[in-house]
Amino acid sequence: MNELLQKMMSRESIKVTSPLMPRLEDFTELLRDIWQRRWITNNGEYHRLLEQALADYLKVPYVSLFTNGTLPLITALQALHITGEVITTPYSFVATTHALWWNGIKPVFVDVDPANGCLDPTKIEAAITPKTTAIMPVHVYGNPCDTKAIQEIADRHGLRVIYDAAHAFGVTVGGESILKAGDMSTLSFHATKVFSTVEGGAMIMHDETTKRHIDQLKNFGFAGETEVVAPGINSKMDELRAAFGLLNLQQVDAAIASRRCVAEAYREGLKETKGLTFWNDLSGVRHNYGYFPIFVNAAKYGMTRDELYFHLREQGIYGRRYFYPLISTFSPYRDLESARPENLPVATRMADEVICLPMHHELSEGDVQKVIDVVCRT
Ligand SMILES: *Cc1c(COP(=O)(O)O)cnc(C)c1O
Repeated sequence: MNELLQKMMSRESIKVTSPLMPRLEDFTELLRDIWQRRWITNNGEYHRLLEQALADYLKVPYVSLFTNGTLPLITALQALHITGEVITTPYSFVATTHALWWNGIKPVFVDVDPANGCLDPTKIEAAITPKTTAIMPVHVYGNPCDTKAIQEIADRHGLRVIYDAAHAFGVTVGGESILKAGDMSTLSFHATKVFSTVEGGAMIMHDETTKRHIDQLKNFGFAGETEVVAPGINSKMDELRAAFGLLNLQQVDAAIASRRCVAEAYREGLKETKGLTFWNDLSGVRHNYGYFPIFVNAAKYGMTRDELYFHLREQGIYGRRYFYPLISTFSPYRDLESARPENLPVATRMADEVICLPMHHELSEGDVQKVIDVVCRT
């Protein structure tokens, strides 16, 4: 084992994230049941139970489970026959833009709003061309996009809206699920997310016809035994993961409550530190505290973001430069006209200044205090 790996695995180090996992005994019990049923994939009992439980928990009418959070993005674009150009954000995980690329769609990057890191609605219209067919925003860090302004623009120009809601599990605005916005929303249940099925994801839709069509698309396009209605994909969640998710759903509220305590402690501990900024809870929003990003102003803080990142690592604290580099700077995308840094000043600055501090449900008060002490350099 190399030295870095050894440090990362050691118990004294503070991990940036930790997966939400059911108690082993509880999972074993469900595994035993699955073994007895001998039905391990293809819309089994646990699959159906988890879709229903998620619809209830998230307060949305329809959920379709997927094997990860990238395939529902790709499938949503297929289902809505999106072509040409799609307006999207560079400040996200690469999967957002890759989903467009895999559909032969040209991504058009638009800058973000410094108030929440999400697509800036005031800059969308200038990027619309006759080829634009949709907008694909991201509720980044679970911060809700300005869904009303985005929908108004979409309606004015006849565009579809697909939200990458990978970070927005359980987020509500004024008591309403953020997942109700737009034509469709997608979730990721990857191990690093607030709610996890190991690997997994879902699509949220608003009507039964769409739900049926999506269920066909994720199963090769099959409609019954002998008919195929579309060139579908295989993205079915298996019974083992569905069972894992069902158990995790019972403890996700407690996990979010723990994360909230961590966020509050960070805010209290870091509020006097010059050169650091972070967001407070937005009014009327139920956050899920999936991430705790801070932004480092090197001149005022006396250290660059990268210097702080490596300084933390030396102390056994693993932060994440998330989202750096910007998607628009990766080689498949950097030659696009809209990828020029001059077009994306806010996102470019955020990517240079951001560091996500350790954030998960198992951080102890001592861990959090250690992070604060190192970041404050006290
Ligand atoms: C995690 C993530 C995805 C992809 O999800 P997977 O389940 O890893 O495929 C997509 N978009 C964003 C913003 C993400 O953070």
